[in-house]
Amino acid sequence: MCATIMATKFPDAPKIGMVSLGCPKNLVDSERILTKLRSDGYQMSPDYAGADVVLVNTCGFLDSAKEESLEAIGEAMAENGRVIVTGCMGDEADVIRAKFPQVLAVTGAHQYEQVVNAVHDASPPIPNAFVDLVPEGGLKLTPRHYSYLKISEGCNHRCSFCIIPSIRGDLVSRRIDAVLREAEKLVQAGTKELLVISQDTSAYGVDTRHEPRLWKGREVRAHMTDMARELGQLRTADGVAPWVRLHYVYPYPHVDQVIPLMADGLLTPYLDIPFQHAAPSVLKAMKRPANEAKVLDRIHKWRAICPDITIRSTFVVGFPGETEADFQYLLDWLDEAQLDRVGAFRFEPVEGAPANALPGAVPEEVKEERYQRIMAKTAAISAAKLQAKIGRTLPVILDEVGEPDEEDGSIGATARSQADAPEIDGSVFLRDVGEGRKAGDIFDVVIEDADEHDLYGVPVQD
Ligand code: SF4
Repeated sequence: MCATIMATKFPDAPKIGMVSLGCPKNLVDSERILTKLRSDGYQMSPDYAGADVVLVNTCGFLDSAKEESLEAIGEAMAENGRVIVTGCMGDEADVIRAKFPQVLAVTGAHQYEQVVNAVHDASPPIPNAFVDLVPEGGLKLTPRHYSYLKISEGCNHRCSFCIIPSIRGDLVSRRIDAVLREAEKLVQAGTKELLVISQDTSAYGVDTRHEPRLWKGREVRAHMTDMARELGQLRTADGVAPWVRLHYVYPYPHVDQVIPLMADGLLTPYLDIPFQHAAPSVLKAMKRPANEAKVLDRIHKWRAICPDITIRSTFVVGFPGETEADFQYLLDWLDEAQLDRVGAFRFEPVEGAPANALPGAVPEEVKEERYQRIMAKTAAISAAKLQAKIGRTLPVILDEVGEPDEEDGSIGATARSQADAPEIDGSVFLRDVGEGRKAGDIFDVVIEDADEHDLYGVPVQD
């Protein structure tokens, strides 16, 4: 007897295209929106042609970013025509509508519900109890082995060059138990590296008076130190401790408390601190939080406790009123601070930022000359620091494995050391990694060579 198997044919689910612009925080927003839409039964489209609706998650931080956002909307309109705009630039709906009257909807930054509702209106979901599943850990736009963990929105500071508080509002911290639950799910789903992000990670919980919540039967405060200690205890299914990296930390006194956690191996020995400048008069004009004058002492103390700590920072050159003496002060400060990783930007006025009204605009050619000088200085510091790593054995996390060499079959790979955050820092290029390694593997390598930003090495033979 033969049985006839009837396949149930479901109607095709609507498909969503996503263009995500701007910073990692925006990327996390895009992931959240896509996760919600996926759980509502939508499918993703990798191209414009296959999408029923295209979402453009915009960035409005700098005027150049706004330009880029408008260009992206224009492209999506031309290629598809059914476009919903969200993100920071969504707060300027009239500018978008004036240029693109046909957009289906415009929603602002982190208005998840509104943007999801707009998608439902534009292309209603088809309910299907059999296929409405979200992969564990949600949908991710980053590779599976690292994930951004957003702990708060907004910022209580009012740096004169920044419009984020006027777009995103004051600091709103997530509950500590929600943050830890999300981190635990990510790690269970295969994340080997957690990148903690916010506008000001060291201010986490200030708005909720560090409200404690129960987590695994004990009270944990919404505080950077408590969070870091708990994240450091997570383990993957096969018992691997994920790397935990703190980004956007300001040098408040309590930051000293996380350095011993790095020395004990609970946290990745890496701090991303956007100092922006060192000269007191420029910092004052920038209205920056924290007093840089004592920071050099603190950095020396941090290195005494955790000699392997990597300190990454960003600096702005050519801020209004910056004199040659101020700039030289910054270069001397960098000589003393010996920061491991540095990014520099030429000052760019942002529409709506108070800094635009400051006197003493620095001519473009002077900005450029200072930019070249700071880049040369920091590249030299970085090169010397990386040279000192030659011969050492360091743990790395694997990002990408190459194809076997046609002649000798050897396999190369790209990895990162604990000093390298994805996308922004250097790489460790590996030779002869052997077969069977995969992205996310953490193992020891011997460093054989170095240049200004990257290292070269080979895995330690077991
Ligand atoms: S700390 Fe300053 S630069 Fe950073 S988000 Fe807040 S206001 Fe902007």
